[in-house]
Amino acid sequence: MSDGQRDRDLGMGCPISRRDFLNGIAVSAGGALAGESLLAAVAMGGEQSAPEKTAGYYPPALTGMRGNHDGSFTLAHRLRDGGKWDASGPAAKSGETYDLVVVGGGISGLAAAYFYRKRTGSGARILVLDNHDDFGGHAKRNEFTAANRMLLSYGGTQSIESPGSYSPAAKDLLVELGIHVERFFKDYDPNLYKKMGTAAFFDKETFGQDRLLTGMNATPWPEFLANAPLSDVVRRDIARVYTEKVDYMPGLSIEKKRAKLATISYADYLTKYCKLSPEALPFFQTFPHDLFGVGIDAVSAAACYASPDDYESFTYPGFDGLGFPEPEKEEPYIFHFPDGNASVARLLVRALIPGAVPGGTMEDVVTARADYSKLDQADANVRMRLNSSVVNVRHAEVAANSPKEVEVSYMRGGKLQSVHGKSCVLACYGMMIPYLCPELPAAQQAALHRLVKTPLVYTSVALRNWEAFSKLKVSRVYAPAGYHSSFRLNWNVAMGKYRSPTSPSEPILVHMTRTPCKPDVGLSEHEQNKAGRTELLETSFATFERNIREQLGRTLAGGGFDPARDIQAITVNRWPHGYAPEYNPLFDPDVPEDQRPNVLGRAKLGNIAIANSDAGGAAYTDSAIVQADRAVNELLKG
Ligand SMILES: Cc1cc2nc3c(=O)[nH]c(=O)nc-3n(C[C@H](O)[C@H](O)[C@H](O)COP(=O)(O)OP(=O)(O)OC[C@H]3O[C@@H](n4cnc5c(N)ncnc54)[C@H](O)[C@@H]3O)c2cc1C
Repeated sequence: MSDGQRDRDLGMGCPISRRDFLNGIAVSAGGALAGESLLAAVAMGGEQSAPEKTAGYYPPALTGMRGNHDGSFTLAHRLRDGGKWDASGPAAKSGETYDLVVVGGGISGLAAAYFYRKRTGSGARILVLDNHDDFGGHAKRNEFTAANRMLLSYGGTQSIESPGSYSPAAKDLLVELGIHVERFFKDYDPNLYKKMGTAAFFDKETFGQDRLLTGMNATPWPEFLANAPLSDVVRRDIARVYTEKVDYMPGLSIEKKRAKLATISYADYLTKYCKLSPEALPFFQTFPHDLFGVGIDAVSAAACYASPDDYESFTYPGFDGLGFPEPEKEEPYIFHFPDGNASVARLLVRALIPGAVPGGTMEDVVTARADYSKLDQADANVRMRLNSSVVNVRHAEVAANSPKEVEVSYMRGGKLQSVHGKSCVLACYGMMIPYLCPELPAAQQAALHRLVKTPLVYTSVALRNWEAFSKLKVSRVYAPAGYHSSFRLNWNVAMGKYRSPTSPSEPILVHMTRTPCKPDVGLSEHEQNKAGRTELLETSFATFERNIREQLGRTLAGGGFDPARDIQAITVNRWPHGYAPEYNPLFDPDVPEDQRPNVLGRAKLGNIAIANSDAGGAAYTDSAIVQADRAVNELLKG
């Protein structure tokens, strides 16, 4: 079949009725799916210097390539490549002065603004700058409208994970924002898809034939694998490690076993200790993609052992016979707003900027439409300026012999301008900070340069209905060699006026995860991340769309799924800079915790403090909040 015919069958370029799926911005049916062009169009049509004030400016409803969208990283990459921030002349002084300027409008930056105001009083003047067209950092909202109803998903930060283990600062913040996590037990329904379950899709390019096997984790392994396109040896081996309870590390104490597991990859553990045939590894290869951003070659066996059991329902075999004490029961993975932790970011904005996110409860924030025109109002004490890339941060005297302040220069709408803050929190990406703030000591810069985030992609696909899933009795698919390594029907949450679809005849969103890691040539985690980042930035939306259509089409063909007919809209949340880097014992030097790069990199310098989850070395909302709390405390201590 020719490529053109294949594209036509997949529905590439077919005139999807986007009127149903794009909220607030009028576009003609049949236009390209790419959202950034829409935003540009809005900006052009409106007030050039303040696109956020243009009617219809509503980034959560944009489809196409989102996440680190085009335009958000151009200047950062220019600085990285040796460009000078003031190459085109000095920044125009805006004359604006603030008590605090925050660089980065993710959860950490918003929390820093919140803590600063809480501790210094409601009169504090604060400016938050962010280089994206929407606030929230990774905590982004994907909003679709289908058949006259709102469908929500998350562009990144998915859930409040284990809130019982949150630090006191983060627990208090959630309560102050009105988030009562116990309500999720009522709002989140784990039962809707109970009768459907997980399937594994084996693709013909890797396994010789396309085959969807239902009942993963629910059917006894030998039975589940009986029809898998795998050799007898591999089938028997996988079933064996899942079912036998053997001590694969005899003679070692529990402590020694734990220590050993931390120094070997899960792939090595399976082959060298559990004696799994290497041909069986492809079945497990992408298990850790969602949580770690790399495969079993680059994640330690200890980390796999410690992975939450109910998280996306992967069970790592091989540990049952080691004699480890029963792990403590984890909190269920249910603390999930329909738009993920975008609701946390939106509640922070609601608390900081009156009227920007209307309402007063954790339930009504779900359907509230943010008013972007209110984010940056001249008479407000707290202001947020989007589409503003900070390019330089330095201590400066406002007038001769006056106390040093921080001058923050940023590019917005092609114009370089600067504001002053008595102090500044850098809540942006750690590895970028040395380019923004060259006055930091060299050793600190070197540490910050190592805080490079993990790339990954969360794709949201709007479907006409989910009858194919229902027919196949599948709500989730694991695809060991798929373009996206897993996908599933959006979780069922009912909050306030928001209702997730509950009938297969209704439109629904599918969440897909892709990790662009490179396991084949023995690269370290960081090397794989680097290669993956490049790949993501070089991949066009059309390539994503084609792969999404093909993957859903082939996987769900047995249920009658037709990608050309059933796919209504696609949002690719591309994060070349995704998860904050975490300590990986397989590759990172074994130094005391206080010597790790995130700790060395986050030292305060004068009136500049450093937040972001990178500074905590943990890719979690709790870490973003804790680091904001610490950074603000450091500034206020002087
Ligand atoms: C796909 C994905 C899923 C995740 N899921 C979860 C989850 O389920 N639960 C969880 O707890 N955590 C999750 N995380 C981790 C998540 O990153 C953190 O929870 C948290 O949201 C990070 O917030 P942050 O403010 O530290 O960083 P970010 O969200 O990265 O915010 C930093 C902001 O600074 C901006 N910035 C950078 N440079 C500049 C500049 N020069 N000028 C202006 N602005 C700049 C960035 O663009 C960004 O908007 C997930 C992360 C990703 C990528």
